[in-house]
Amino acid sequence: MSDQHEDGVDLVVTGGIVVNASHRQAATVIVHNGQVRGLLAPGAPVPVARRTLDVEGRVLLPGGVDPHCHIGEIVGDYAGQDDYESATVAALHGGTTTVVNFAIPEADDETPLDCARRRLDEGASARIDHALHGGLVRWDPGLGEQIAELAKLGIRTIKMFTTYRGERMVEPETILEVLRSLHRQGGMGYVHAEADHVIEDALALCAEAGRIDASHLAETRPALAENAAVAQVLATAQHLSAPVYFVHQSTPEAVAQVRAARREGLRAYTETCPHYLLLDDSVYGKPGAEGFVCCPPLRGHELRRDLVTAALVGDVDTIGSDHCCFSLEQKSASSHDVRHMPNGLPGVETRIPAAFTALVAEAGVSLERFAALTSTNAARLNGLHTKGWIGPGADADFYSVDPAASRTTDAADLHMATDYTPYQGMTLYGWPTDVVSAGRVVLDSAGFHDPGPVGRFLETHPLDDALLT
Ligand SMILES: [Zn+2]
Repeated sequence: MSDQHEDGVDLVVTGGIVVNASHRQAATVIVHNGQVRGLLAPGAPVPVARRTLDVEGRVLLPGGVDPHCHIGEIVGDYAGQDDYESATVAALHGGTTTVVNFAIPEADDETPLDCARRRLDEGASARIDHALHGGLVRWDPGLGEQIAELAKLGIRTIKMFTTYRGERMVEPETILEVLRSLHRQGGMGYVHAEADHVIEDALALCAEAGRIDASHLAETRPALAENAAVAQVLATAQHLSAPVYFVHQSTPEAVAQVRAARREGLRAYTETCPHYLLLDDSVYGKPGAEGFVCCPPLRGHELRRDLVTAALVGDVDTIGSDHCCFSLEQKSASSHDVRHMPNGLPGVETRIPAAFTALVAEAGVSLERFAALTSTNAARLNGLHTKGWIGPGADADFYSVDPAASRTTDAADLHMATDYTPYQGMTLYGWPTDVVSAGRVVLDSAGFHDPGPVGRFLETHPLDDALLT
């Protein structure tokens, strides 16, 4: 603690149980200059501190790392309502202290590199540390060079879509070339996997039968379309021995395929989202179905249950919010025809409580695994070495939770730049009581303390999954 002055350290946090992905321990957390300097045994002499936070009776979890956010994204006619400021203020209220946003080209002539540079500028208003995934929506002969340039900017992951033909879909040949290039840069491809030909046909059949409004979303995007696309992309990755990450997997079969490939030695990873763990397709039969329109859609009760089990036994690697901040008015404008709706659910603020409810409160997932799913694994997969754990050398990002405490969810209490939540009226556990981000106490019993635009852009690093749990 060489830079520790006689006037003491910045913060000590007493009385908590520190939970990391590997183990838990009762400890006093010493914080100075934005980092954790030490974990002391309870009762050990504590240095003089400018601030003491008592979290007696609560657990301390590593600050959330959300690997999947669409902050300020424009999709077709619809502009996401948020920006880095509102999204990261909301993230902090929900215990998330790092976000990875997407830079998916929007205008017809925008290149992946142009889009990444634009997002880097937009990130100046972020309240928390943030990184970027690149995005690719069409083949471009200069892609190899752009991938190298993106890596120089600290962006080593690129998202591709196997669906949305004519908008975002890329061909299997492009996925192959990009997985290969990224692998050479120490990076990894991110894939939204749904077989487009099946979905196009299901959409056409549903439209013909007059079943194309939001209440029929699940019929238009069947589980088998997701499973088939995952199989094809896995085959490509296996052919190349290149790592691949599947975003928002919603079926147990898709998760099982990734796990089987992993057992055969492929570096393949599964992300799922809180809404697939906590909600099922029964919501589409009720008023307000448009508020639940996301792709892939929510699945049936049994698939949801089996997905929770997959997370319980360790077959899921990360939980991303897939945060898309559209208003109810935007969701409703074309709800008579899902082909023209903005997809996605707001969720950067509710990611941790919704996942905590589905996994810890309802399914008995350990707090250690919960830390891995919501923080540690996403940090490691993006090479964010100072994120995802609480201990000497880590950034001082963590939150306290009383695991037995719950709250009824009301959109009016949330901070995302939208007017609804898919969890309206539901009882959610896992809300943070205190949040420390980069050593600053931003949430405590007195309320929220906006740290201002202090978030730093984090370069991601070559894949580091040796310690993945
Ligand atoms: Zn997404």
